[in-house]
Amino acid sequence: MDKLSVKNAQICVLQHVTRCDSEVVKLEASLGRVLAEEIRANRDQPPYDVSAMDGFALRSADLSASPSALRIIEDIKAGDMPSQTVLSGQCSRIMTGAPVPLGADAVIRVEDTQMLADGRVEVSKAVKPGNDIRRLGESMRNGQSVLTAGTEITPGVIGVLATVKCAQLAVYRRPRVAILSTGNELEALDEPFDPNKIPNSNSYALMAQCQALGIEPVLLGIARDDPEELAQFLKRGLEFDALLVSGGSSVGVHDHVRPTLEALGVTMHFWRVEMRPGHPVAFGSINTRIAFGLPGNPVSSMVCFEEFVLPALRHMMGHPRLFRRTIEARLAHPVKIRPGRTEFVRVVLSRDAEGGYVASSTGNQSSGALLSMALADGLLVVPATRSGLAAGELARVQLLDGCAFQADLGFEGDL
Ligand code: AMP
Ligand code: MG
Repeated sequence: MDKLSVKNAQICVLQHVTRCDSEVVKLEASLGRVLAEEIRANRDQPPYDVSAMDGFALRSADLSASPSALRIIEDIKAGDMPSQTVLSGQCSRIMTGAPVPLGADAVIRVEDTQMLADGRVEVSKAVKPGNDIRRLGESMRNGQSVLTAGTEITPGVIGVLATVKCAQLAVYRRPRVAILSTGNELEALDEPFDPNKIPNSNSYALMAQCQALGIEPVLLGIARDDPEELAQFLKRGLEFDALLVSGGSSVGVHDHVRPTLEALGVTMHFWRVEMRPGHPVAFGSINTRIAFGLPGNPVSSMVCFEEFVLPALRHMMGHPRLFRRTIEARLAHPVKIRPGRTEFVRVVLSRDAEGGYVASSTGNQSSGALLSMALADGLLVVPATRSGLAAGELARVQLLDGCAFQADLGFEGDL
């Protein structure tokens, strides 16, 4: 196999993944899903001209720079329909969201008025026609397309869906994902402590990476490095839309994952990518199902999930945005690497005096040092063509989960 770059490996993965079919869910259960249908407005919104303020509906021609006194003919609350036409010299008291009465062409807010002793209201400022009126259909017109298929359902989208009374909607199904760890040395979470064994952390880190995408995976457990036992596990795993196998995908004599997947009918598309960590990563497919052989080293397994599994699963769920957001950050210190492979450096981010991002390594970058991943805000990408980056140099950082929030307000002075 020719040397495969991270980018070409990502392209290869995306060529072999199929978007899941759709299912109907209730609005209340749709957060984070992706719309599989176009949504149209089922009415004009607002359904009539409404007041944008608590105040008085009046005829703008009645007002001038000098004070005018208007007689109040009606009180219109939100939900009421007006019964009086506003004539010259008159106004109706109106609440936010209430329909503007016939005759009136503007609303003046209550703060710009004064009640007179005789019950009339005094207005001492002129307004233009349409002032503080929300026009019929201003937000959406009946029949208008408001959301397209492929839209991620955020709280704002849920609000729009409720506005168009969409109690049920079609979303893309989430892929069913199975996770299998392999290795004779592994100790299960519920097994007694054995100083000679390695705790199985990969199953849980991968589980959480799936959960962060809104997928609840099935943990198949631990398979020993025995081709027959492995085949049993892999067979079960291949019933899922996506199978993630950790460990045993390298070229050691006890690394049976690749040949066993092949024996079960999986076509392997690659089994090595020019990256660090994560070099021995394998990917295959059988019909619409996909299988990843992830390296056993805990950081490698997580980084390979980020680079290959995450875009694949997001595509299956119907997301048009497949990749982590990247930002530019200045390096706080030099980074030295061996050229030839794309290097993913685990970094924390801070801000400099100008508000730009500064990236610093989380410490020991060994692919076994899981703390370097646990503490990271992002993965700094050093291109394969470079042998390192200098302090102060700008580099791309892929943001990880948890980067949507920060400790301070992020604004100078008062908001
Ligand atoms: P392998 O890819 O099977 O050669 O494993 C590489 C390294 O990762 C070995 O040191 C393993 O002990 C370790 N490893 C493999 N699987 C896991 C796992 N599920 N959890 C934690 N470490 C693992
Ligand atoms: Mg192993």
